[in-house]
Amino acid sequence: MDNLYTKDYALTLLNTKKGALNELYAKADRIRKQYMGDEVFIRGIVEFSNICSNNCLYCGIRASNSNVKRYKMKMDEILSIAKKMEKSHQTTIVLQSGEIKGTYDEEIGELIKRIKRETSLAVTLSVGNRPYETYKYWKECGMDRYFLRFETSNRELFSRLHPDSSFDERIECLMNLKSLGVQTGSGFMIGLPGETIETLAENILLCRALDLDMIGIGPFIPHPDTPLGNEKNAYEDDKDMFFKAVAVLRIFNPDCHIPATTAFDAVFPGNGRNLVLQRGANIFMPNNTPKKYREEYLLYPGKPGVDETPEESLDSAIKRILSINRTVGTGPGHSIKKH
Ligand code: SF4
Repeated sequence: MDNLYTKDYALTLLNTKKGALNELYAKADRIRKQYMGDEVFIRGIVEFSNICSNNCLYCGIRASNSNVKRYKMKMDEILSIAKKMEKSHQTTIVLQSGEIKGTYDEEIGELIKRIKRETSLAVTLSVGNRPYETYKYWKECGMDRYFLRFETSNRELFSRLHPDSSFDERIECLMNLKSLGVQTGSGFMIGLPGETIETLAENILLCRALDLDMIGIGPFIPHPDTPLGNEKNAYEDDKDMFFKAVAVLRIFNPDCHIPATTAFDAVFPGNGRNLVLQRGANIFMPNNTPKKYREEYLLYPGKPGVDETPEESLDSAIKRILSINRTVGTGPGHSIKKH
């Protein structure tokens, strides 16, 4: 069976001509329905700090961007958001921040413990590379899932874009998380400058090889305050590739949770995420970060929803899910994989 999921097959699908795109998208949608059903699970994101010690070349909150006002939310503030989320029937909190090794690890552990003690939410963390012991400690605190994108499977490109970490270290982090029994998510950017369609196929194959529980991908969007500010997305003139990537990702990873990421709305305002949900995805992640912080968490420019309140973001997510004849997921929406 695995012989089917080859690089050649991925490339053939990625090279689908315009006239056959609907067929490709319908296939991905069918597989999504067969394995994951019609429920779209809502995972609420809280961007609790934009402090980061790294300088990833594409990222708007990289350490050396002095145009960003840095913030870190207090534990009580995050906890009261978590409680509101629970009341509004969101079942997962995704805690996201920049990467600061060491300093906050214990504080994050305490936060996980309190959320697990005081709410019924599933907890996903997305705070970067850490040693095995830290992941183990967070798992013991109650962490359910971890999200850490590898961004590109091309080692050379990875080193160029990430002066502070190595590809091997990133993969080791993912393997450590898996070995600890944490539901593990990863993914990549579509169209990084210097990437080819071969890289894209290899990214999809790497996701499959890692046997992930969740996979998040989104188009590269140049941020003016970064060294890649003047670069273009590699598929700038062929934006169908963004959707083809999602569809092929679903075909290669039938039983994974795949979110419709916000970056799709930045490229296709108003309906990017709806289209992704109809071409393979099954997760929506409304932003629960208080409005006052949102402007300072712009990983890329034109991020939608900066002017919204958390309630408006949730309301809009639900309306969008229902508008495409899908249902809002109930329950935590854990991985369906048996590892
Ligand atoms: S991508 Fe993450 S680790 Fe890299 S600079 Fe941005 S916040 Fe920091």
